[in-house]
Amino acid sequence: MSNVDRREVAKFESLAQRWWDVDGDFKPLHDMNRPRVDYMRARCAIEGARILDAGCGGGLLTEALAALGGNVTGIDAGEAPLAVARQHAAEHGFAERIEYVAATPESFLATSPGTFKVVACLEMLEHVPDVRSTVCALAQLTAAGGDVFFSTINRTAKAFALAIVGAEYLLNILPKGTHAYENLIRPSELASACRSAGLQVADVVGVRYNPFTRRCTLSSDVSVNYLLHAKKLSG
Ligand code: SAH
Repeated sequence: MSNVDRREVAKFESLAQRWWDVDGDFKPLHDMNRPRVDYMRARCAIEGARILDAGCGGGLLTEALAALGGNVTGIDAGEAPLAVARQHAAEHGFAERIEYVAATPESFLATSPGTFKVVACLEMLEHVPDVRSTVCALAQLTAAGGDVFFSTINRTAKAFALAIVGAEYLLNILPKGTHAYENLIRPSELASACRSAGLQVADVVGVRYNPFTRRCTLSSDVSVNYLLHAKKLSG
């Protein structure tokens, strides 16, 4: 698999067993899951849709989308998160709605180009060496007229203070070294990668997270975490 930062994926592999612990290392992902799923379902049909969850990890989003009636394929570059995801799905009755495959967007392209009505790539881009290559592969995996969702962390002083220094070093919400400042992506950069890949940006919204109350809400402030919705142009 190319366009994978093996050291980044190794971090997720070593923590994989704790993926479904709501109070563990992936606590922020658990807390963010409902608002991001609500955002997606408000902007496109999930029920009956063929959905790709790229960088699915232990399957938090994957299972939430399957619970809404989506037929979801989860891909990830790490074997350990996929093993956890497969086991969790089997134990919770999702085996028929979810398929998990070890792949990157680029390597998966050979199998299923242009077949997914909905594509999600949440909290993954900041761990990838070449973001444009990932966005381009995901665009090619999307059916014409389909919906693509990204979420990541902005590259701002505020994001550095809150998402790296605050979350990793002061509050121990995330393991140290989870995010590197230089890999963070500005909304304008992601929007530019989308346009080059034939995706039209439909919306960008901020994701506000309070680690003390563990409340997560969508807001107009995109300076730390944000979600981006793009449409694949038809024809
Ligand atoms: N999307 C999930 C998990 C985010 S953690 C969620 O938001 O709940 C990031 C995941 O991306 C990890 O499981 C990591 O193994 C995976 N990943 C990193 N680089 C990747 C790549 N190039 N291709 C596929 N998966 C990748």
